Amino acid sequence: MYQIECDTHTHTLYSRHAYSTIEENVRAARDCGIKLLASTDHFSDMLFGDYENVKNYQYFFCSSNWPRQWNDVMVLRGCEADIVDMEGHFFGHDIAVEKSVVGDPYDPERNLQELVFERLDFVIASVHAKRHTEGKSVAENTKMYIKALENPKVFFIGHIGRAGVPFDMDEVLLRAKELNKAVEINEHSFFWEGHHQMVCRDIAVRCAELGVSICVNTDAHMSLEIGQTQKAQAVLEEVGFPQELIINRTKESFLEGLSKSGVCNVQIMG
Ligand SMILES: [Zn+2]
Ligand SMILES: [Zn+2]
Repeated sequence: MYQIECDTHTHTLYSRHAYSTIEENVRAARDCGIKLLASTDHFSDMLFGDYENVKNYQYFFCSSNWPRQWNDVMVLRGCEADIVDMEGHFFGHDIAVEKSVVGDPYDPERNLQELVFERLDFVIASVHAKRHTEGKSVAENTKMYIKALENPKVFFIGHIGRAGVPFDMDEVLLRAKELNKAVEINEHSFFWEGHHQMVCRDIAVRCAELGVSICVNTDAHMSLEIGQTQKAQAVLEEVGFPQELIINRTKESFLEGLSKSGVCNVQIMG
């Protein structure tokens, strides 16, 4: 088994189909020896019917109040943002916000995506609804992923192997390497059988060959899943994946990676 000290893709109740609070997730992280937890709720139109209402996003706006070091666990504030078009834009980029949560006008007007991203340490770029990719070519999908990865707040692409959007693996992986960013190997992708499992495996093999960093995460939607990446690790072992390319192997390696990519500089604590 690998040494993986960080779980950097996890959800709380805020995501609406997840079931634990941030405090429950932090406790679960401490109990299983995770030293750094990133909380990355969905930032997506799957959250609210009236998704244009800025008051719905106070959870993100105020996550800076969480202690950095909480129950011996260092906590990062992130989100998993939906890629919503072929230009690699994210949910909220086209939602104008005229007033703050308390009704003060923004001058100039801001967009929802900027307002959320600027308060967070980093962002995971994921495709969930893939309507916008229907009928598109592999080249167009590849460009979409690369553009998303190039957003200065994005540190890695989430569950790219199970999103069901075909893309040119080498092009995306090499761009990730150039940007000092990563792609994710996600435990949830191994929960059920399917072609996507082979894609995830192939991604791991190619990352190892090209020297591209991966981030191995649970995508926990309940606290009991925090830190549990056994299925993903079994696949990595099977393909002989090198430990040193796992960006979240230690707290230090993850934070150094974030800093090297230019996404953010968070001082090591604990
Ligand atoms: Zn989810
Ligand atoms: Zn997720």
